[in-house]
Amino acid sequence: MTYQSVNPNDGKVMKSFEHLSNPQLEQSLATAEACFQTWKQTSYADRAAILNKAAALMLAHVHDFARLATLEMGKRINEARGEVKFSAAILAYYAQHAETFLAPVKLNPKVGEAHMESSPFGVLFCVEPWNFPFYQLARVAGPQLMAGNVLVVKHAGCVPQCAIAFEKLLIDAGAPIGAYTNLLISHEQSDRVVDDPRVKGVALTGSVAAGRSIAARAGQNLKKSSMELGGSDAFIVLDDADLDKTIPWAVWGRMYNAGQTCCAAKRFIVLESIADKFLERFTLALSALKPGDPMDEKTTHGPLSTEAALVQLIAQVDVAVTHGATLLLGGKRIERPGSFMQTTILTDIEPDNPAFRDEFFGPVVSFFRVKDEDAAIALANDSDFGLGGSVWTKDLERGRKVASRVDTGMMFINNIDWTDAELPFGGIKDSGYGRELGNMGIQEFVNKKLVRLATLDAPA
Ligand code: NAP
Repeated sequence: MTYQSVNPNDGKVMKSFEHLSNPQLEQSLATAEACFQTWKQTSYADRAAILNKAAALMLAHVHDFARLATLEMGKRINEARGEVKFSAAILAYYAQHAETFLAPVKLNPKVGEAHMESSPFGVLFCVEPWNFPFYQLARVAGPQLMAGNVLVVKHAGCVPQCAIAFEKLLIDAGAPIGAYTNLLISHEQSDRVVDDPRVKGVALTGSVAAGRSIAARAGQNLKKSSMELGGSDAFIVLDDADLDKTIPWAVWGRMYNAGQTCCAAKRFIVLESIADKFLERFTLALSALKPGDPMDEKTTHGPLSTEAALVQLIAQVDVAVTHGATLLLGGKRIERPGSFMQTTILTDIEPDNPAFRDEFFGPVVSFFRVKDEDAAIALANDSDFGLGGSVWTKDLERGRKVASRVDTGMMFINNIDWTDAELPFGGIKDSGYGRELGNMGIQEFVNKKLVRLATLDAPA
């Protein structure tokens, strides 16, 4: 069964869902296409009213949405509430700004006059991951619905109730049927959706493997795609960093969402002179986290999203150790019901160790000590990924210089990767291409049409 809610806190199956049949899928695509014909003509004000209503409904029912995320993928309830509020903020942000972002832009040709105007592509297919079951949906729904596109969305198999709740939210807010459609479909059906001529663009957030598969398919069909994929962000600690401030952020940066964040701090790269002190304090702080029911607000260490994710992560740690890494902390499952992984620290990871390049999607720290700032930057850049990263220093000018030299889509100084509705999010290299959020996010799937007026005589 692909679509199943299993509580990772105790392993109990809560609900299972059938796939759509092929005729049902066809009906969904036909409805989306029909909806687009009216939605694209709907005014910004009318679209904004629906998205603002959806945001208000989310805020009015924060706990109900948050509870679903906690039950289906184990996110700690406080974090889940934060995610729901942020999702509402994204919807409201695009309701407010879309018209300005997509307003015609006047150009200045030498002859005549010209402008660029923006119009929606049509039906977009979005494939989304479970780790932020509402935020990921808001990140596409906010900008793309406001741009006049309509969405058919395949959410991850383990969060079907969140997927259904988000679709219902938009319908309750007044969105016409077909503007946002949740599809409970298989990977094969998903390929068919990418191939379908009614679908004009594809946005995926997920693993590199999924990105390669869906981007290749979209490319075959000459359809534009955006890819938000994995990451292995560096957390660079310079020798003048204030450890009292840095350590709590290091814990947050690695452990937020039980470590299952694309832009989590994953590789801790610390200058030699401060490395021992940093490691000692970081180890203590990680060891102090208390596993427990993610529904309990006092819990500081939640489960992983699924049992399969736990088994895979433990195997990855084992491979790292077999290839010479030192296991300084953890590395095993926590002996209690549910899919809990010990907080884990790996050191002595050499470049020929698979752990050097792989993404660890959970509470696993890869720790590196380096001799100086140049070595830190070189190591940060020696990665197949290029999503985000951070640098920690009291010298802000030095921080800015380091940030400029790291090859990623986002860099943060004295802060972990911190997303806001108004700031573009995305990466380079195997972390994908395109941007979501901010002004850039709404420009991904709109036709930029040049309109020129020049009253000239045709050349003889
Ligand atoms: P995943 O396996 O790639 O799943 C993500 C989504 O893609 C799910 O809906 C999944 O559906 C679907 N999918 C996977 N393979 C597919 C295929 N061949 N055809 C159609 N759909 C397919 O990713 P994950 O491992 O669950 O999620 C974690 C990954 O996502 C990490 O690498 C993380 O870094 C990345 N991520 C990136 C961002 C970002 O913005 N850059 C944000 C969050 C997460 P099923 O569940 O049905 O397989």
